[in-house]
Amino acid sequence: MTRAAALAASLQALEFRLAAACAAAGRARDDVTLVAVSKTRPYGDVEVLRDLGLRDFGENRDQEASVKARAVPDVRWHFVGSLQTNKARRIASYACAVHSVDRAALIAPLADGAARAQRRIEVFLQVSLDNGPNRGGAPAADVPALADAVAGAGGLLLRGVMAVAPRQGDPARAFAALHEVAERLRRYHPQATAISAGMTGDLEAAIAAGATHVRVGTALFGCRAPVLR
Ligand SMILES: *Cc1c(COP(=O)(O)O)cnc(C)c1O
Repeated sequence: MTRAAALAASLQALEFRLAAACAAAGRARDDVTLVAVSKTRPYGDVEVLRDLGLRDFGENRDQEASVKARAVPDVRWHFVGSLQTNKARRIASYACAVHSVDRAALIAPLADGAARAQRRIEVFLQVSLDNGPNRGGAPAADVPALADAVAGAGGLLLRGVMAVAPRQGDPARAFAALHEVAERLRRYHPQATAISAGMTGDLEAAIAAGATHVRVGTALFGCRAPVLR
């Protein structure tokens, strides 16, 4: 089987899963945006999926993301990885959305980068669901202040919240907690309706808990080789 045929088959299987998850949750399939997380994959894979109709792609490292965004400019690039303050300005030059804003220090450089690029960057506030240090994210208590800062910054559009489920425990409980954070946020920022949650292993639980963006890598591209840094 060619790579293109393999990707088409994975996409079809994933679409089947997404349709079933949406149906089970009583939601419309177009309520949920599929972000294909292409990290470690060649841009040729992105072109294949783009030609099959996917529009949203995710990356978690600036260097790799900027190269791929230059190679395939006609899709929407989402930055989903942990973000260094000194990279934030640059990310705004190619990303249309950043899912991993978890501290105030990122906001000014992102806004500055957006202004220079003359674009509006969609911002998701990443929330830690276990307050553990490993997977990134702000404590839920920080969300209101971060939201006000993003909403007040030019060039940034507050879209909602994002989380990665903790490695241990029931993802359904974690995503229910995220949903509560999202509801509270929406009381003060009614336009911030997005919830970025769910990956290959837990997308059904995320969709059941209201996810509007799922970030899927492995189910589309296959297992990644371990990354050596
Ligand atoms: C890699 C990654 C994903 C995709 O994970 P899979 O389990 O391969 O689907 C989603 N979100 C973030 C933040 C990631 O780094």
